[in-house]
Amino acid sequence: MVVSKPAEIMDVLRRLQAIDDEIREIRVARDQMVASMERLQKVLAHLDRELAEKREKLAEAETWYRAKNGELEAEREKLTKAKSKLTGVTRSKEYVAVNKELETVRKNITQREDEVAKLLVAIGEFREAIGKEEQKVKDLRSQAEVESHSNRERLAVMEGKIAEVDARRKVISSAVDRSLVERYGRIAAKREGIAVAAVVDGGCRGCHMQLNPRFIESILRASSVVTCPHCSRYLYADSAHDADGNAVTSV
Ligand SMILES: [Zn+2]
Repeated sequence: MVVSKPAEIMDVLRRLQAIDDEIREIRVARDQMVASMERLQKVLAHLDRELAEKREKLAEAETWYRAKNGELEAEREKLTKAKSKLTGVTRSKEYVAVNKELETVRKNITQREDEVAKLLVAIGEFREAIGKEEQKVKDLRSQAEVESHSNRERLAVMEGKIAEVDARRKVISSAVDRSLVERYGRIAAKREGIAVAAVVDGGCRGCHMQLNPRFIESILRASSVVTCPHCSRYLYADSAHDADGNAVTSV
């Protein structure tokens, strides 16, 4: 049944406002929870990508290490060959040449050994750092899973409450013309969710602008549905105070 008397219409709009006030906090809390869950997933995805890059670099370093180790082995073989050559040398000129070769190879080996040892230390440290990070990401992920599990339960409760209130809202809304509810929605969207305001001390409580006394009179009489000329909110007379700030019991 659609009501048509201004006072009845205002009553419906006030009930709509009360319902929207009731649910606003839940909606905000739900949106914040969803946003924070999404944020955490993004952080985890970012950390995963970073770890993957580091693992790739580690693999490159290991390849490099194997190549250097191969070079070291080759130098060692050269050393063995040069040594056996030396035993067969009879002429002193040749002896000097092979000895020089030996010296070069030994120098190369020392250099390669140094490189390989340094690489091994660096790889070890890198591997350890990656391991620590992997553990950190793992801990964060299990923490996120625990949180998301409890959040999902809270979320379900919130969604249930929102659905229940929405159903009540639909029933209340159906008591007035649809265009009124739509207008209410447009005002609420523009005015931080508040589409209905009381008139207190001669002013609109929504925007705090003073109102023309004759205008207030029409609100007190409730002869028509009135909106604030400044903020467009639907206005009603606060039952506790009249336009002069005097307490009244009914309007
Ligand atoms: Zn106003």
